[in-house]
Amino acid sequence: MPTPTRTRRRRRSFLLPLVLLLLLSFVAGFFAGRLTPGGTASPGKTAAGAKAPPAMPDWVTVDLLPQNKYSRPGTALREINGIVIHYVGNPGTTARQNRNYFAGLATTHETSASSHFVIGINGEILQCIPLDEIAYCSNSRNVDTISIECCHPGEDGQFTQETYDSLVRLTAYLADYYGLDRDDIIRHYDVTGKLCPLYFVEHEDAWEDFKDEVFR
Ligand SMILES: [Zn+2]
Repeated sequence: MPTPTRTRRRRRSFLLPLVLLLLLSFVAGFFAGRLTPGGTASPGKTAAGAKAPPAMPDWVTVDLLPQNKYSRPGTALREINGIVIHYVGNPGTTARQNRNYFAGLATTHETSASSHFVIGINGEILQCIPLDEIAYCSNSRNVDTISIECCHPGEDGQFTQETYDSLVRLTAYLADYYGLDRDDIIRHYDVTGKLCPLYFVEHEDAWEDFKDEVFR
């Protein structure tokens, strides 16, 4: 039966290059994924070249906001060129209350606001937004900075020692990981002129001391 045999052989000779082609394009796609900046397989890099977020130490409580367009839009933070320090401006509120306020914006639609971190008056640190997503905290610098909000007991905005110590520790950790310099640590005031964080705006020497401690 020569005819069927030939047909099978012809079909096989047609299938082999096809399989090889598929295999080749799969392998090529895999390596392209590793080599191009947008490749998901490239370790340590996000889409536009920012470092992948560090593992959070156990002194940070990760309690991310639900994704929503008012406080966690899920927009990629493509580069990290600084850290912006804030105060919550609402004396006596806790880190948890501020975090929950941001989360609640998903349903209240009151405004757009959030922060990567909130530090409480007892020094507790809550993370609300992953470090590869933007927060709504620092206006034009939302696109390339990490934001840290600090709670405070009084109207003058001075931080408790516990809040201050945690702020130094967290800022130093992040600055070290992302290779940031002293000048990359800024106040909200330096972005928009807003009196935030109030105490560090009114006490320039305390602000300089803070940065000294971060880079000690
Ligand atoms: Zn602020």
